[in-house]
Amino acid sequence: MRHFPIFIDLDGQRVVLSGGGAAALAKVRLIAKTNARVDVFAPTPRAEIAALADAGQISLFGRPLTGADIGGAALVYAATEDDAEDRRIAALARAAGVLVNVVDNLDQSGFITPAIVDRDPVTVAIGTEGAAPVLARAIKRDVEARLPATLGLLARIGKAARGAAEALPGGGLRRAFWQAFYFEHGPRALARGGAAAAKDALADLIEKFRTATRPGHVDLVGAGPGDPELLTLKARAALDAADVVIHDRLVAPEILELARREAEIISVGKAGFGASTPQATINSLLVEHAAKGAQVVRLKSGDPTVFGRLDEEIEALEAADISWAIVPGITAASAAAAALGESLTKRGRNSSVRMLTGHDMRGFAEHDWRGLARPGEVAAIYMGKRTARFWQGRMLMHGADPATPVSIVENASRPDQRILATTLAELEPALSRAGLSGPALIFHGLAPRGAVQALEADNQQELA
Ligand code: SAH
Repeated sequence: MRHFPIFIDLDGQRVVLSGGGAAALAKVRLIAKTNARVDVFAPTPRAEIAALADAGQISLFGRPLTGADIGGAALVYAATEDDAEDRRIAALARAAGVLVNVVDNLDQSGFITPAIVDRDPVTVAIGTEGAAPVLARAIKRDVEARLPATLGLLARIGKAARGAAEALPGGGLRRAFWQAFYFEHGPRALARGGAAAAKDALADLIEKFRTATRPGHVDLVGAGPGDPELLTLKARAALDAADVVIHDRLVAPEILELARREAEIISVGKAGFGASTPQATINSLLVEHAAKGAQVVRLKSGDPTVFGRLDEEIEALEAADISWAIVPGITAASAAAAALGESLTKRGRNSSVRMLTGHDMRGFAEHDWRGLARPGEVAAIYMGKRTARFWQGRMLMHGADPATPVSIVENASRPDQRILATTLAELEPALSRAGLSGPALIFHGLAPRGAVQALEADNQQELA
């Protein structure tokens, strides 16, 4: 380790920066997060830097930096993006015994500025000694995703309550308490009622941990269409915290991988018409685990509020007085529209879009056929593979144009995504012939955009 990471107290200190371009602006913005006095030397500063000076956030001097300007400074930044000028400033700083950083020049620098994840007072600094900026950015992104945006505010609230938390027995329980505050109860209370609510939540939580075992909780989480990168940050956090994960068959294995190693993973396979776990069994599994104090994630494909039989589970949780929350996800229709490169709604074509299910509990689902048959209508049909012929028949019978485009997106957002472009008249037998085995979303009234069609040409030939 050549560079030793430390955190410098810049309260009331002076930081001197030379440069007026993009590199200077980036550093100025970073330093402006502190309470340092910032003196910027730039004969031709860009507008944003001038604006910061006008706003009183920095002092701007419209001339090159001289040795006299450095005296008493805590740090000097040479960010003129002019090699010779930066070296001159670095030499001045060294002569004055002040730490200097030359932007993008490790050898000339006495210190370097890390990539920062800012949840003040929690700050994560990432450095690679200039070896791999790409790596630093990737790590920063990961850490950003793991730390709730509200963590800083929570940390301040937590810090103020450290004394009260000392009342809890130490060790695992106290760790579980802080974990619960920073990653579950705190963020939830903040979202609901701001800092005041978070303070109350903290007091309640101390009380709860003092008197009882941990309260159970169920998050009803949308796992999205399959691509793990389409998970929300909240869904990831919930998976990270879960003791038990109860998931549908459609949830991709890559997403289950994100749960903790120790978490209990329970599959409650629910296939369209196939074998399935009865809803009552799922409900009692949820209640049973949460009642024991477990943090339960009920993981559903797409968005849990879309054809997810969510209400039955919520009713069961309410009846058992168990706390729950919904974490939305990206629904299959959104992912499938993205695959087609098409908008779900479009001026002049459709100002509404319907989400339909091909079958309901009684079998084929009946719909407002006449309305759906109108030109320009767009419908996203879930669970529609086996009822496509029924759909086709009803729509043609109610006067839909046989040439209406119909697209089928199988495994939307997954590596094996396939697109089948056809028309209402051809939907069957085209769909049966294609023999799709993955989950598929049928779009009535949408065709893939030309560019996408070309991209997917291989697949379509395969399907034809
Ligand atoms: N809650 C889910 C839908 C559950 S119903 C959501 O919001 O997406 C299950 C149906 O969703 C499947 O029969 C299929 O029509 C559709 N579906 C789910 N994942 C899909 C995917 N990756 N690609 C295409 N369709 C998908």
